[in-house]
Amino acid sequence: MPELPEVESVRAGLARHVAGRSFSDVKVFHPRAARRHLAGPEDFAAALTDRQVGEVRRRGKYLWLTVGEDALLAHLGMSGQLLVGDPQAPFGPHLRARFEFSDGGHDLRFVDQRTFGHLSFSPGGAELPGLIAHIAPDPLESSFDDELFAARLRKRKTGIKRALLDQSLISGVGNIYADESLWRAQLHWARGTDTLRRSDVIRLMEQIRAVFADAIRAGGTSFDSLYVQVNGESGYFDRSLAVYGREGQPCPRCGTPVIREKFMNRSSFSCPKCQRKPREGRW
Ligand SMILES: [Zn+2]
Repeated sequence: MPELPEVESVRAGLARHVAGRSFSDVKVFHPRAARRHLAGPEDFAAALTDRQVGEVRRRGKYLWLTVGEDALLAHLGMSGQLLVGDPQAPFGPHLRARFEFSDGGHDLRFVDQRTFGHLSFSPGGAELPGLIAHIAPDPLESSFDDELFAARLRKRKTGIKRALLDQSLISGVGNIYADESLWRAQLHWARGTDTLRRSDVIRLMEQIRAVFADAIRAGGTSFDSLYVQVNGESGYFDRSLAVYGREGQPCPRCGTPVIREKFMNRSSFSCPKCQRKPREGRW
């Protein structure tokens, strides 16, 4: 599932290839792709036709293209891809929407095998689309306040990983980068947020930003080949993962085999030596 670095890679690709160009034709091929646009796919298409793309912005795992004061908002879900390429290329079976441009150049396609992704038109949403106004800033935004986050976190009685996945506290961190940043900060995922010191949280934030920067440089993590950049190429950060998906392999720091534990119907990967399990963990 794409997390912040993957969505940022897509955002940067769209900024390079789509910004400044005008939509000449918009077609939605599967109603689920526009299900969050309550007025329906035809209204969605009409609202964007003949509009010029300004900037491409992101918060957490959402990205949006500004069109004047309005926005085209996208969430990739589990398997969504935004691809820029040859407009003559044949349509694949999972093409959900297609945007052609007035210059007749490369088109933009939304391809989504599992259809959890969605697109919507957000009137007045250029600054921040209404659909995501309730989502907390992500750690790469200048409005993210580490001190405020540390204070809010320490007041909660939950596990640190569960808190990192709570999009009302912090956005953009999912299973992969939670495990990687907790390993870098040497914190166990079940550590109670109320037992963290301020300095633990500040250290964790540094590591979250560091792992995001490393992953963005690598074009993101393409685990199941469903995530690709706008040119269809995979990211290669999976080669640099320390613990995620590496059960039984040596911890890059101390050599102890990485363990996998059940967590919220998913898994948590950690080093049992570098990340000491708390006596009373919180799940
Ligand atoms: Zn270790």
